[in-house]
Amino acid sequence: MGENPFENAQKQLEKAAKIIGLEPAVHSILREPMRIIDVHFPVKMDSGETRIFNGFRVQYNNARGPCKGGIRFHPAETLDTVKALAAWMTWKCAVANIPYGGGKGGVICNPKELSSTELERISRGYIRAIAQFIGPDKDVPAPDVYTTPQIMAWMLDEYEKIVGGAAPGVITGKPLALGGSAGREDATAQGVVYTIREAVKVLGIELRGAKVAVQGFGNAGSFVATKLSEMGASIVAVSDSRGGIYNENGLAAKDLAKHKEQYGTVLGFAGAKEISNSELLELELDILVPAALENQITGENAGKIKAKIIAEAANGPTTPEADEILFGNKVFVIPDFLCNAGGVTVSYFEWVQNLYGYYWTKEEVFEKLDKIITTAFESSLKAAREHSVDMRMGAYAVAIKRVAEAMKLRGWV
Ligand code: GLU
Repeated sequence: MGENPFENAQKQLEKAAKIIGLEPAVHSILREPMRIIDVHFPVKMDSGETRIFNGFRVQYNNARGPCKGGIRFHPAETLDTVKALAAWMTWKCAVANIPYGGGKGGVICNPKELSSTELERISRGYIRAIAQFIGPDKDVPAPDVYTTPQIMAWMLDEYEKIVGGAAPGVITGKPLALGGSAGREDATAQGVVYTIREAVKVLGIELRGAKVAVQGFGNAGSFVATKLSEMGASIVAVSDSRGGIYNENGLAAKDLAKHKEQYGTVLGFAGAKEISNSELLELELDILVPAALENQITGENAGKIKAKIIAEAANGPTTPEADEILFGNKVFVIPDFLCNAGGVTVSYFEWVQNLYGYYWTKEEVFEKLDKIITTAFESSLKAAREHSVDMRMGAYAVAIKRVAEAMKLRGWV
């Protein structure tokens, strides 16, 4: 992939700092994470052999509340990626105006090559290694790339054994039976859909019949495809880590989700032809949804993108160089930390319900989610227009000001 996501995150911050005239002292604090936890922990594999795994937890900033953010299990995980993701979580919680700072975790491992018992021991080992640094009022992890509600359940159980009591608010994205929230599973996608609904209004595009491609068919991507197709959009292409499929007349999103569940890939879906991930990005589209990993839209391919809207369900899919090109070409980018804030917002609802011990219906959850995401979209758009910048910079302006205000009130600057 080439580019360092943390350098990209710092470049974005620098650009935003200039736009809003951020004080140098505030900028210096926000350029680096507050704390980095880097652990190596032993895990007994099914073979009887002991392997050492490397994991990270980055606590980027906690001026607005406990750190918040997911944990990724990925073979290509790096500390710099986790640092970038932790920074983006800080902006995400701030733009959504939920009372959290930002954090992120990662373990270098390949879940596709691990048995369920090995995955459980890795999850528990990681929590033992970071337990003293997390907690409902300190740092609250959640799922992300290749981590699931089951993994959250093991992590919760391990944490509760360590502290010796119930602490459901230590982690979100839990199964419903362990204090998870209704709607958490498809919350990220639901938030993405709300931002797309707002963006099509701004551009005067009709969602019904709009041509959509979704890169990445994990938790976010598959639900975005199903939801948009239920709203009348035509999902012409999707892809996953093994490659993409295309049908100019639209793919049946629900059947595709079943196919993915059965075969582990979207490839081989009836009536579709195969395309590469890069071909998918450059299709003739109304809406492109990158829902995979970082650094997909770069200085090299940004000029070839024909979509009118890019809805960043993934974190960090677009590099700063690409942003300049897209803005010049009038592509409307809904930036990651605004577009995919639905996940963490419902995590916040989950945490509130855990602390309160009282649970809401899915309808209540989505109604509250809609308000938060729509307000965040509107304030970002307003800031973007005020400063004549793109939506990413608009969202940064809103988020940074909130974090800066909290730091100033605390007397940090
Ligand atoms: N991992 C998700 C994200 O990147 C959710 C984080 C959370 O729920 O804390 O926003």
